[in-house]
Amino acid sequence: MTVRVRFAPSPTGMFHVGGARSALQNWIYAKQQGGVFVLRIEDTDAARNKPEWTEGILSALDWIGIERGGYEGPYFQSEYAGEHRAAAARLHASGRAYHCDCTREAVQARTGSQYQGYDGFCRDRGLPAGEGRALRFRTPDEGETVVVDLIRGEPTFENKLIEDFVIARGDGSPVFLLANVVDDMTMGITHVIRAEEHLPNTPKQQLLWEALGVKPPIWAHVPVVVNEKRQKLSKRRDKVALEAFRDEGYLAAAMRNYLMLLGWAPSGDREIVEWSVIEQEYRLEEVNPSPAFFDEKKLRAFNGEYIRALPVEEFVGACRPWLTGTGTIAPPPWQPEEFDADAFAAVAPLAQTRIALLSEIVPNVDFLFLAAPLIDEAAWAKAMKEGSAELLDAATAAFEALESWDAETLKSTLEAVGAERGLKLGKAQAPVRVAVTGRTVGLPLFESLEVLGRERTLSRLRAARVRLF
Ligand code: GLU
Repeated sequence: MTVRVRFAPSPTGMFHVGGARSALQNWIYAKQQGGVFVLRIEDTDAARNKPEWTEGILSALDWIGIERGGYEGPYFQSEYAGEHRAAAARLHASGRAYHCDCTREAVQARTGSQYQGYDGFCRDRGLPAGEGRALRFRTPDEGETVVVDLIRGEPTFENKLIEDFVIARGDGSPVFLLANVVDDMTMGITHVIRAEEHLPNTPKQQLLWEALGVKPPIWAHVPVVVNEKRQKLSKRRDKVALEAFRDEGYLAAAMRNYLMLLGWAPSGDREIVEWSVIEQEYRLEEVNPSPAFFDEKKLRAFNGEYIRALPVEEFVGACRPWLTGTGTIAPPPWQPEEFDADAFAAVAPLAQTRIALLSEIVPNVDFLFLAAPLIDEAAWAKAMKEGSAELLDAATAAFEALESWDAETLKSTLEAVGAERGLKLGKAQAPVRVAVTGRTVGLPLFESLEVLGRERTLSRLRAARVRLF
């Protein structure tokens, strides 16, 4: 039997990190089993679907490493309406489903407001189909439904506690529970790997598989992802859109590796491993079933390590979108013609070791491309102390006299200027750095000055000096 898994997102909003994780888990499982990964877009909620969300899903999957052409599909649930209706008709014909005209109010009036489910009132009324009559599945009164779940063992549900649930609405359109099952059947899905949120649906869906005469799939319900307060990540409260992480400069490799470490770890106390190791070692059966903490601080640190591990040319290329403002990334504060690729390449290795997100490249190098530095007033106030004006004068004079404009000479020169005033190099550097870059922290100063060049360095020192009067 060929393993066939599917990822079945609904295109109703930004693509969520939890979705990316389920997609990767399916992807890996298919790889490991020599199986097939199917992508199905569950686009039947016409009121909430938008085509751009589908495009967003495809490009997010692409970015995370599940590339177009590498999977079967995408199929669209809306194209299978005929199959959904036929399955509903079969269930009705075989007596496994019945029409029901009860309103919620009527059910509540009969059962009291405490009772949440349906009381079976229409079970044996034999109502024909009709406008406003939903189709309900008749669940067994006895026995148990045992779900085989790779992560959770065998969650068992008593059938008499499973209400007769709706499978098609009054207008004949099938609901999620049925459409999802029929599609999985039609697509020959053998393993359903999906979010834990769906576990309550699973016994109902398994009963549908059985009633339709097909062997149910093996399930794997992957644990929810929670924030630091142990609340389930929500798009209203938390940053969850994969795109938001991408646009801040998280690397796809760091992101996908981190997502796989939620509730699982590779052998030997390692966290940062090649994707191929994860593909080989990952075991759905080993995933911890309790909620997994999505720790953005840790992800950020992770990302920094991935950035540092890039060959420098790749790092330079990876920074590009932030240097030019591409797609959904905000343009940098300089004009496109002010950007100097050679100057950037010269400082890139210094920046590479200092940033954790690619977007952080901008404040680190803006001084190189802007006509005048963006002065951070708090940094200015902190760095410019009594005696700073004189120090800047002396540094300017000493720099002007230099024959060679290189980091080492600049450093020894400022060291000497500082020493004459009883200042250690760090203290002497601060006013110079703010004058030239606008900030108190940044790339190593003397290398920065070397790349910035003599003219621009000196004119910025003079401008700072004027500001101090
Ligand atoms: N469209 C459903 C969702 O996004 C799919 C559930 C499933 O994987 O079965 O939650």
